[in-house]
Amino acid sequence: MMGQTTNRRDFLQSLIYGPTALLTLGAFNTVRTSAAAIGPNDKIKVTKVETFVLRNSWVFVKLSTDAGITGWGEMLKDDAKACAAGALEVADYLVGKDPRRVTHHWQAIHRGAFYRGGPIKTAISSGIDQALWDITGKCYGVPVHRLMGGPTRDRVRVYGKVDSRTGVNAMKVSPRGSRTPFKHAEGLKMIDEVTERFAAIRERYGRGVDIGIDFHGAVQPTTAASLVKALEPYHPWFYEEIVQALNVDVMAEIARKTHIPIATGERIFTKWGFREIIEKRAATILQPDICYAGGITELKIIAGMAEAYYTPIAPHNPQGPCSLAASLQIAASVPNFLVQERGDNEYSDLLAKPLPPMKDGYRPILTDPGLGISIDEEKLMAQVGEPSEYRTRYDKDDGSVVDW
Ligand SMILES: [Mg+2]
Repeated sequence: MMGQTTNRRDFLQSLIYGPTALLTLGAFNTVRTSAAAIGPNDKIKVTKVETFVLRNSWVFVKLSTDAGITGWGEMLKDDAKACAAGALEVADYLVGKDPRRVTHHWQAIHRGAFYRGGPIKTAISSGIDQALWDITGKCYGVPVHRLMGGPTRDRVRVYGKVDSRTGVNAMKVSPRGSRTPFKHAEGLKMIDEVTERFAAIRERYGRGVDIGIDFHGAVQPTTAASLVKALEPYHPWFYEEIVQALNVDVMAEIARKTHIPIATGERIFTKWGFREIIEKRAATILQPDICYAGGITELKIIAGMAEAYYTPIAPHNPQGPCSLAASLQIAASVPNFLVQERGDNEYSDLLAKPLPPMKDGYRPILTDPGLGISIDEEKLMAQVGEPSEYRTRYDKDDGSVVDW
C-alpha cells in the first residue's frame, strides 16, 4: 500500500527501478518539502502587527501569524514615531487576512487611502510589504528572490568602506571644502576647494576604486551646474542628488550638462515618482529605498520600468538589516542591478545569525527563507527608545536654514 507521501509518479518509477528507487525518491521528496513550513493551500492569517522605534531612528514592523511564522520589515527614519503609529493603523485591515497575497495587500493599503504616496504613507506600506514577503518566503521555505524568478546573479557588488579584507573597491564621498557648498551661487574659492579635495581622494585611491559623490540635495542648482563640470576631470563614478529631487526638470537640466551619470531616488516614492525621473532622463542610476519607495513589490516594478531605459538600480540603504536583506533579494531578482549601498554592513547588534561573509567586494545572495535574515529580538529590544531629533542646519554667516 502506498504511503501518504508517495504519489503516482513515485509508484510508477518504483515499478521501473525497484523498491530502492521508491525509498530514495520518497526520502528526496521529504527533504524537499520539509523546507516549507506550510503548503500553498494551507490556511494562514495575520494575527498581530507590532512596531519598534530604535534610538537611532530605525523603525521595524513585525507581523505575527497563526502558523507561528513571523515577518519583519523596516520603515522610514524621519518621522519614526508617525511611521510606527501608521503601521499599527494598517492592522485594522491586515489582521485576519492571508499574508501571502502580497501584491493585493500593497494595492489595498495604497489605494484604500484617499491620500496616497509621500514618505510616511509609502514607508508604512514598504515595511509591511517586506514583512509580508518575509512570511511568504518562510511559508514555502525559500528566499524571496526564488518567488520572483531569481536568482539573477550569484553575488551582489556593494559599496561602502574600501577595505582589502572585504575587497570593497567602491565608495561615496560628500562635496566638501572648508564647509559644504550650500550657498546659492558659490564663488571660485569654494568650487576650487571642493574640486581639490575630490582630486586628492581620487589620487589617494587611484583609478581602481569607484568613487561616487553625493551632493545630498544640499547644493543649489547654480552651484551644482559649476561643480558637475569642475569635478568631471577626476571621473566621479556618479553624481548623487545633485539638487533636491522635488523639481525633476531642474535635475534633468543639470544632468544634460555632464556625461557623468546622475544618480537619485532616495527621496522618490512609488512607480509614479520614478516614472517622471526616468522619462525626463533626470537620472541614469536609480536609487530607490526599499523602506520608503514601496517595498520589495514596488522596487521590482521600478526596476522593470528602468530596464526599458537601460537604467540600472542601486538601492539606497542608510538603515538596518531588513533594509539590506530586502534590497539583496531585489538584487537577486532583477537583471539591471548595479551596486548595493552599504552592503558591507554586518548588523551583528541586531541579527541572530551573521550574514554570509563579504568576498572580493561582493556579498553572497541570501538563501535563508524569506528576507534571508533572523532578527534577534532581545538585541533589538535593547535598542528601543526615543528616536533622534530633527537635524536642522544653519548658515553660520547669516543664520538662515540650509539643506544638509
Ligand atoms: Mg544619498
